Amino acid sequence: MDLAEALPQTIDTPSGPETGGTLTIDLAAIEANWRVLCREIRTAECAAVVKANGYGLGLEAVVGKLDAAGCKTFFVADLVEARRLRAVARDAVIYVLSGFLPECGAAFIDIAARPVINSMTELAEWDAFVAQRNWRGGAALHVDTGMNRLGIPPEEAAALAPRAQTENHGITLLMSHLACAETPAHPLNAVQIHAFTEMRGLFRGIPASLANSSGIFLGDSAHCDLARPGAALYGINPTPGRPNPMQAVVQLTGRILQIRNVEKGATVGYGATWTAKHAARIAVAALGYADGVPRAASGADCGQLGVAHVAGKSCPIVGRISMDLICLDISDLPDGVLHRGDAATFIGDGISIDDVAAAAGTIGYEVLTHVGPRCHRIYRGA
Ligand SMILES: *Cc1c(COP(=O)(O)O)cnc(C)c1O
Repeated sequence: MDLAEALPQTIDTPSGPETGGTLTIDLAAIEANWRVLCREIRTAECAAVVKANGYGLGLEAVVGKLDAAGCKTFFVADLVEARRLRAVARDAVIYVLSGFLPECGAAFIDIAARPVINSMTELAEWDAFVAQRNWRGGAALHVDTGMNRLGIPPEEAAALAPRAQTENHGITLLMSHLACAETPAHPLNAVQIHAFTEMRGLFRGIPASLANSSGIFLGDSAHCDLARPGAALYGINPTPGRPNPMQAVVQLTGRILQIRNVEKGATVGYGATWTAKHAARIAVAALGYADGVPRAASGADCGQLGVAHVAGKSCPIVGRISMDLICLDISDLPDGVLHRGDAATFIGDGISIDDVAAAAGTIGYEVLTHVGPRCHRIYRGA
């Protein structure tokens, strides 16, 4: 098929002034973050994980930037993403994390993508498929070292090792995945690194990959031959509790629709969960949970959670976040600095993705991947 036909419409996004929400993505910062990670792992190769539409930021734009920067290997979740990726990076090595599903063999050849083999059943089917089609496109072998999600149990993988040298399974990468990398002191890290090091010894000559973003910061023993960062590329802190070594990548803003006064004792929003303790000024922004601002970051009398930056000042979110609207207490702003149509910043300007996640009791990954399709997307640093 013509690969151009596979190009999806995600680059065309709603136009600027007509939408309330705007997501600005700094592609130069993504490249800078990739280079920071490359330096951290020194001689190992730094791949990029771009699943879930490049963590919500636009797979084509992210891949285009990193491919031009010299990134050679990409990981996606499924074949649909692999197809989109191939259309913008003709020479890239593409691994599909969801593995080899029935009836998908032809697609792997069509796209020249490599499945991540996650079970012995998949391996048997893949072997049969590649033998029948005489296909040598390669595949990753995913060994489970303690995550207990996907992956071949270590005993079965170990039994396979002698055969892998002789029979050609076409294995081009040995990989495993860390369960607790963002908590360096967690004992499971040492257990998994040890188990994977042993496994590498059995599969000599095949490149190995263990580290996700946080795994890169666990030190040399986790680096192996290839690292697989996702989150850190997009500015999420891979070292929680320590300063973020990554540059901020995104800014999420909503336009102010209205500024109104509320009297002392009045409540704001659905459920009347926030009460004005004094006469207050409220700005209503055109952004809501449909745009990905987590509703759990709503402000209520029983606790103040999320904030936005308005005219250079941090203003609390008051009342429940609605589908399309968020109310902000701007009482502390000088009169006249904020106007209808101005932007309030919900991510960026010193509010990190991780701050928003903490306010909502979730993780930065969820915040990023939930930014709504309704937001206007602007790419900078292309
Ligand atoms: C998502 C994923 C990654 C990337 O993880 P980050 O924490 O975003 O760096 C790496 N490997 C596998 C198997 C994954 O599923």
